[in-house]
Amino acid sequence: MIQVLDKKFRKLFSENEIRIQVERLASEIKADLGDKRPLFVAVLNGAFVFAADLMRALDFPCEISFVKQRSYQGMESSGKLTQVLGLDSDIKGRHVVIVEDIVDSGLTMYHLREQLLQQQPASLRIACCTFKPEALKCPLKLDYVGFEVSTLFLVGYGLDYDGFGRNLKDIYVLAE
Ligand code: 5GP
Ligand code: MG
Repeated sequence: MIQVLDKKFRKLFSENEIRIQVERLASEIKADLGDKRPLFVAVLNGAFVFAADLMRALDFPCEISFVKQRSYQGMESSGKLTQVLGLDSDIKGRHVVIVEDIVDSGLTMYHLREQLLQQQPASLRIACCTFKPEALKCPLKLDYVGFEVSTLFLVGYGLDYDGFGRNLKDIYVLAE
């Protein structure tokens, strides 16, 4: 058990288990896009750890850029998206992979996907470290998924609880 702010969390996935999944995703991405010079679009803040590991697991030419869109306050998805930082790269004709820490309601991914599609990428895929299938509220196809999880609240490996816990090497779940 660990404590982040006022809540207790227990370990769900270890650093090693995460590394194995990241390497699996990297080889799936290589099979699809290894010769296509893909552009990764990582969603700040949460995806920074996963994106850094995923990029370093790839051994072919690729680029990364960042966007920031927030829908969470405290422990519940607000459903409202605020764009804080826009994309600075031209994605027209590029093979794009969105990199996200976790897909919960799916609203963040759904809206970001719609926005990026307007800029006519050659292809658009989604990679996420964790996915809560039972929480999904909109039609969304996820191409690369590290772990499927329950609807409980997670921290660590980039995921925060009110800003804290992102630096934890493992993924933790809220202890009831
Ligand atoms: P969605 O738009 O899919 O509801 O939410 C996506 C965003 O909500 C994620 O990028 C992440 O920042 C946040 N989020 C969703 N579930 C969790 C969770 O269990 N823990 C944390 N720390 N953030 C979450
Ligand atoms: Mg996020």
